[in-house]
Amino acid sequence: MSGFPCPVCGRTVRRSARGRPRKIVCPRCRYRLHDYPRPCAGMVVVKGDTTLMLVRAHEPRKGRLDTPGGFIEAGESIEGAARRELLEETGLRVGRVTWLGFYWDRYYLKGFGYLPTMNFYYLARWRSGTPRPSDDAATATWMPIAALHEQRARFSWKHMDRLFRDVKRAMRR
Ligand SMILES: [Zn+2]
Repeated sequence: MSGFPCPVCGRTVRRSARGRPRKIVCPRCRYRLHDYPRPCAGMVVVKGDTTLMLVRAHEPRKGRLDTPGGFIEAGESIEGAARRELLEETGLRVGRVTWLGFYWDRYYLKGFGYLPTMNFYYLARWRSGTPRPSDDAATATWMPIAALHEQRARFSWKHMDRLFRDVKRAMRR
């Protein structure tokens, strides 16, 4: 179990797995934090029979695979967030997108612990442009969708396994 400073008084508070929704109460000032899930948006871009993956070039998680995506900002639409993350992380813009799916997962924040995440995905066809990762700790690569299950151990997130099963299903339609 990990602790973090209370946002009001600074006392170390600890998260509890009990309660629905989870609540975190500061033992000193009684400040109450609602530990709700965090929403994330991702874009699966398909080009022929391949999909765009980001590969981490350095530690931590060197060699791990991820799809373009990230946390949704306040006031954004889910689709808008997925497009923004794609543009920020790869420089690519896509045309029409289709809804792909929703997946639960979790994200580890040092000093705080695991946050539950809600991961929303859209599917897009590549139109033009060469992906250029903004982050020099990553490279972008087109990987064959049919062989992705062989890369399971390299996935950054648990839900990517189910995500790409759904991508395969969507591509058969
Ligand atoms: Zn406090």
